[in-house]
Amino acid sequence: MTASTLPGQPHFQYRGDELFAEDVGLADLARAHGTPLFVYSQASMLAALAAYQRGFAGRKAKIFYALKANSALGILQVFARAGCGFDIVSGGELERVLAVGGRGEDIIFSGVGKTRAEMQRALQVGIRCFNVESEAELEVLSAVALQAGQRAPVSLRVNPDVDPKTHPYISTGLKGNKFGIAHGDALRAYRRAAELPGLKVVGIDCHIGSQITTSAPYLDAMDRVLDLVASVEAAGIPLEHIDFGGGLGIAYDGEQPPAADALWQQLLARLDARGYGDRQLMIEPGRSLVGNAGVCLTEVMYLKPGEQKNFCIVDAAMNDLPRPAMYQAYHAMAPLRRGDAATATYDVVGPVCESGDWLGRDRDLAVQPGDLLAVMSAGAYCMSMASNYNTRGRAAEVLVDRSQVHVIRERESVADQLRNEKPLP
Ligand SMILES: *Cc1c(COP(=O)(O)O)cnc(C)c1O
Repeated sequence: MTASTLPGQPHFQYRGDELFAEDVGLADLARAHGTPLFVYSQASMLAALAAYQRGFAGRKAKIFYALKANSALGILQVFARAGCGFDIVSGGELERVLAVGGRGEDIIFSGVGKTRAEMQRALQVGIRCFNVESEAELEVLSAVALQAGQRAPVSLRVNPDVDPKTHPYISTGLKGNKFGIAHGDALRAYRRAAELPGLKVVGIDCHIGSQITTSAPYLDAMDRVLDLVASVEAAGIPLEHIDFGGGLGIAYDGEQPPAADALWQQLLARLDARGYGDRQLMIEPGRSLVGNAGVCLTEVMYLKPGEQKNFCIVDAAMNDLPRPAMYQAYHAMAPLRRGDAATATYDVVGPVCESGDWLGRDRDLAVQPGDLLAVMSAGAYCMSMASNYNTRGRAAEVLVDRSQVHVIRERESVADQLRNEKPLP
């Protein structure tokens, strides 16, 4: 890594040989807070959000941050203060939004398996919309709402059957996928929703996948969804809003996804051309708002040369950064201090007892034990997927705002992990 600006992460730059997050040296943060440590740049998040806001300027549009990408309360505060709503996928996420002062009307609830208890709580706080994913869920939600003396606002998540050309585990808009209501079943489902007494149909939504790096799948999905809007409304069921989900990719390894504003200029032109440009629009971005706003700092513990491979053993692992193990995902790695040590090729691995516990393969690194590395692009689907496997406490998290540093989560202790366990009598 020789460039002073790291690809995709302009708020993480070298000053001299030292890597900074905004105006804060990362090595100082690692010393003060220990490793592994997640560091987020507030400016980076706000810049990512601003691209969407520019794209939607002058439109009736609302951005609902999909907090499963990173659900730390400190991160939610940043987006709440910037005027975002939130897309949740569980009752736990609902409570997180409420904990930062989010209001029901700022919340939409996605997911294929909402429980009755989650539905009840969401109705109680008056969420804006349930994004319903099956006809069976419609029946249950209607019954739960009637019991509460309410009508639940619903949108149907339709599956537009387009290929987002991303990893199979993060592709959601194809036939044969557990998500959404099949395109061909959608009209029937809308008719059913419209006749159920506990429901009020308010919209339509789709979400075709994640880490999408071209605009074509979005345009295809939009066409398919607008076809449905036309047929649902022709059946006498008006739709107040159209929600196009999230999924825009980020640069992990030189990908060049469209910028959010450029993408939406294209999509809005298509919407206008089809006569839907003045509708209430909603989107649910996650990764593209936070992914490149975060890094994970880790210390090199041991170098282990081998016959076939050299291993660089670091103190972060698959429990902190599950994406490589789960999706064979690539995260760039950068030294916190650039030196002139000899470079060798390593597999960068963690201490967890699994062969799947690797963070990077075949990386050229100039490192020695005690050196610090940043695992780049670690703001999304890292900490929010972290686990306690091997009874490893989850990492601490800090948010940087220019030269200010805010600890937004303390490192998890062993006592934290043992708290809910009960010894046998
Ligand atoms: C995960 C998810 C999102 C966010 O996806 P990103 O790829 O992180 O933008 C949006 N909507 C729904 C329904 C989701 O499940």
